[in-house]
Amino acid sequence: MECDHELTELTRDELSGIEREFTRLKDKCYLDHAGTTLYADSQIRAVQQCLTENLLCNPHTSRTTEDLIDQVRFRTLRHFNVRSTEYSVIFTSGATASLRLVAEYFHFGQSGSFVYLSDNHTSVLGMREIVSTKRIVPIIREQLIPEETIGTENALDADSLLVFPAQCNFNGVKYPLEMITEIQRNGLNGYSRERFHICLDAASYAGTSFLDLSIYKPDFVCLSFYKIFGFPTGLGALLVRKDASDLLRKRYYGGGTVKIAMAGQNFHVKRDSLVERFEDGTVPFTSIVSVLQGFDTLERLVPSRGLGRSSIKRISHHTFLIGQYCYRRLEALRYPSGGEVIRLYHDTKFENRSLQGGIVNFNLLHEDGSFIGFAEFAYLASVHNIILRTGCFCNPGACQRLLGLTDEDVLKQFKAGHVCGDANDLIDGQPTGSVRVSFGYMSQQRDVDRLVEMIEKCYLRKTLHNGISRTQIVSSYKNHDQPRLKVICLFPIKSCGAFKISDSWPLCRKGLKYDREFVIVDENGVALTQKNLTEMCLIQPRINLQTKEMVLSHPKMPELALDLRMLSNKGRSIKFCQTKVCQDEVQAVDCGDEVADWLSLALQTSGLRLLRQAADEVRTFQHSTKEIALSNQAQFLLINQASVRWLADKVPDWDDLGTEPNLDSLVDRFRGNLIVDGVQAMEEIGWKRVTIGDRLEFAVDGPCSRCQMVCIDQRTGLKTVEPLRTIAREFKGKICFGIYLSHSAFDLSSPDEIFLHCGSTIHGTIE
Ligand SMILES: *Cc1c(COP(=O)(O)O)cnc(C)c1O
Repeated sequence: MECDHELTELTRDELSGIEREFTRLKDKCYLDHAGTTLYADSQIRAVQQCLTENLLCNPHTSRTTEDLIDQVRFRTLRHFNVRSTEYSVIFTSGATASLRLVAEYFHFGQSGSFVYLSDNHTSVLGMREIVSTKRIVPIIREQLIPEETIGTENALDADSLLVFPAQCNFNGVKYPLEMITEIQRNGLNGYSRERFHICLDAASYAGTSFLDLSIYKPDFVCLSFYKIFGFPTGLGALLVRKDASDLLRKRYYGGGTVKIAMAGQNFHVKRDSLVERFEDGTVPFTSIVSVLQGFDTLERLVPSRGLGRSSIKRISHHTFLIGQYCYRRLEALRYPSGGEVIRLYHDTKFENRSLQGGIVNFNLLHEDGSFIGFAEFAYLASVHNIILRTGCFCNPGACQRLLGLTDEDVLKQFKAGHVCGDANDLIDGQPTGSVRVSFGYMSQQRDVDRLVEMIEKCYLRKTLHNGISRTQIVSSYKNHDQPRLKVICLFPIKSCGAFKISDSWPLCRKGLKYDREFVIVDENGVALTQKNLTEMCLIQPRINLQTKEMVLSHPKMPELALDLRMLSNKGRSIKFCQTKVCQDEVQAVDCGDEVADWLSLALQTSGLRLLRQAADEVRTFQHSTKEIALSNQAQFLLINQASVRWLADKVPDWDDLGTEPNLDSLVDRFRGNLIVDGVQAMEEIGWKRVTIGDRLEFAVDGPCSRCQMVCIDQRTGLKTVEPLRTIAREFKGKICFGIYLSHSAFDLSSPDEIFLHCGSTIHGTIE
């Protein structure tokens, strides 16, 4: 990049030195430093060297270990520019554990308050559940104001605790640390008779900013080390100002934290020093020792350049500049019509490093101004090897405020089935979360360029300047490899093998005629699925529309023909459960003993019955009005062969198969109804509607989240770990191969049957 060194605090040499430390990124673009930053190669080598060269015993046994641990305390305090005479370092398992310690043991006196900023992390919100006061008050940033006149001399016996983050992990806004001293001295506006103590959640801030404890002196500081240098995980600290030690009244003890403890009587005396009292059990000494190499690595890769330009200050400057560049490039993105592409969720305009850290938070918009779901975006980003974070980032307060959601909106979203961390990204067009990208010392300008290029490619180039949509261009261009419907697959018996059709097949109200009309139940009336009985896929039903017969075959059984006319509504009418938990009972007709025996023999499970969904049974999925057969969610599942091929290329090793399976057999695992070819890999994910042939219109109901069935080879019934492992790795398990369709806008009540034809063209439209 031409202007790399103009943008960044780091020199070209420093940047290339850093680059050599992260070759494991390969072609991945890592943009989740607020989730965790990455550890450097040389850092891990140094850790290894330290562990192999020293004999690290239990610190209660060995002075050497204890000395090393003390060095880490010292080094940690030096990082925050303060001495051990002023602060103690208690090692914890992370910022969350530190916050919890404060919540558990802070002594509020008679009537102290627990006051917290509503933009806090969930780890702070959870403190409400265990603090020993009933006065619990959320405040907003504007209320972080010290009392003007009254000092705390005439305070009651009321010790109050104020918790706020030094930097918001949602959008990187920094909170005014100057307030700390003021509030400690004068109290908080509106609480004139309470003495305020401050617990600073520095987990996000400390990752890339300098917290100068020689100037700002919160009573408690909570942090996690992996956010600063990536390794070790499971280790954090609670820094306690020495003169605030007595505010923590510890009850529990364990390990060496006591001077005496008697087994027969309930008698113990805790140790004197705060640290000795608080670190119960054996501290994670190998992890603690590795913190030294973390600090060393930062100082080696981003060396101090004299006063005012220490390593961490330079990192702070660097990450701010990259964040600023990202903010500005995203802000500048426009649709040809002039409409904004990116809705940024920020409290600052990235002008001042002391008010803003290197985190950028946003959602994408369609050209008409409606929101694009973050799950869709996460998916596309992952396809482009960009690692970023979506959702609410464990900060519901900031999320709600910045997305402009009312309490009613949030409850409505919850009632509509959205929970933290799921892929329900839009509910009634309103986002439930957003996209976060964040930067670390190893981030570069070109990481931002990758992100912006990907957004341009996926969202902006779909509409060209003269207003012709991309699908129109595709269809007028190169007619021969136009996307087409390749195969129709029917699953007459739920969870059994596919009946593949390569000419045409009629539609009915519920989807493809006869699709998932039958189900096998066990002796308890619960539907069998491939998940627990993989051999079900070996049962192959075929349907002959002329003779109205369904023929069942199985490798070890003679074929069995069933007359579909005889099976309808003749047998015993019964109810059965779709799932073990039996959330919906379905009305069905039993298909008789002959087929029941045949199935029991084929699957070597006694007592099986074949049921057919009653003709008048109307099932719909969740809140929709669309009828479905016994499938789990939707009328049709469309699978793009190119996407499966793309996934297969990502699977590093089909270890349990020996060789890579052929494409058709892989496609079969996804159990789609409509297999299409000629569409670009993953293109279908952006579709909102689909037209098959000239006139059959389908609405896209959403992506299909895969279950473990994709690991069953549909020809043998054997389970393999792939491709689920790859899906889990690439998409964090959430996503989503294929899209669900339902038919719309064509009249199925007309007397003529409507057929789907293989070879028909497929048009996906993105608006
Ligand atoms: C990450 C983070 C936490 C929680 O840290 P853990 O390491 O997960 O315990 C708390 N607060 C903020 C602001 C964070 O960014």
